[in-house]
Amino acid sequence: MPNAIEPPSESPARLGAAYALLADADVDRPWRPIAGGTDLMVQVTGEIGEPPERVLDIWALDELRGIDVESDALVLGALTTYTELRRSPVVAEHLPSLVEAAATIGAAQIQNRATIGGNVMNASPAGDTLPVLLACGAEMVLGSASGERTVRADAFWTGYRTTARRLDELLLRIRIPLSPGRQVRFRKIGTRRAQAISKVVMALAWRASAVDQPWTDVRLALGSVAATTVRAQGAEAVLEGASPIRETADAATAALVAELRPIDDVRSTADYRRAVAGRVLHRLIRDAGGW
Ligand SMILES: Cc1cc2nc3c(=O)[nH]c(=O)nc-3n(C[C@H](O)[C@H](O)[C@H](O)COP(=O)(O)OP(=O)(O)OC[C@H]3O[C@@H](n4cnc5c(N)ncnc54)[C@H](O)[C@@H]3O)c2cc1C
Repeated sequence: MPNAIEPPSESPARLGAAYALLADADVDRPWRPIAGGTDLMVQVTGEIGEPPERVLDIWALDELRGIDVESDALVLGALTTYTELRRSPVVAEHLPSLVEAAATIGAAQIQNRATIGGNVMNASPAGDTLPVLLACGAEMVLGSASGERTVRADAFWTGYRTTARRLDELLLRIRIPLSPGRQVRFRKIGTRRAQAISKVVMALAWRASAVDQPWTDVRLALGSVAATTVRAQGAEAVLEGASPIRETADAATAALVAELRPIDDVRSTADYRRAVAGRVLHRLIRDAGGW
């Protein structure tokens, strides 16, 4: 008798073979790709989330690996693990806030196996890399037998744990534009320093010619405060064109607290999330301004 918690699976060694399987995108029995399995395996029993009908193991697909800088972007293969991110001199040089985010995820066992592509595709509002990707204007490159397409982070997470991916597609890589002079800061608030799901997670990106100069291209992204990772456009509008002085921090914090609509849940209350998000933003601006 088949084991009820062991769905049928395939482990293609080549991308073309994976695409061929995915082309059979039966909506009643869709293939669920499995990368590190750290999210999917906890769903297999059906106690948490939708159990997979059929599992497509993508671990052997080398086309989904690698960390590169290509012209004006940092390009991360979907199968890049958090340990690889943490050890990469390229990521440390170009996007240290992503290294910081990776370091907060799970503990060493999770970081050795879990992938950034899995974090993106799991689409949890608490996914810790998502605010960094959203604040940096990342683009998700999806592939299928009919070719590749690119979806910007702004349009990628379409709702609670849903994405713009079609059933016949895989996430191949993530392109993160590298913008000269851009600064990015990351901060996660959880119950503990490790093995904690975020109560609030934030990334703030901006460009400035010097520490005390006005900010441009400001993007503020938050997780765990809505059904998806979101941008706080009210606070962004306050920060755009302003210098990182106390008055700016006060006004941006007020705007953020006014626009956030978090929920109460097992991890935190809405009031706490709103208050702590405001304080974190204030602190990030203060640190950036050096006052
Ligand atoms: C103990 C523990 C602690 C954790 N701590 C954190 C934490 O602190 N912060 C955090 O953000 N997360 C945390 N997680 C969640 C998880 O580790 C991350 O979301 C991780 O990045 C998922 O990656 P994975 O490779 O394991 O994904 P998988 O479990 O393999 O897949 C996750 C989802 O993405 C899909 N998928 C994966 N890769 C692709 C692809 N290339 N193309 C299309 N679909 C794909 C799968 O079908 C599945 O729906 C934790 C999990 C555990 C078990």
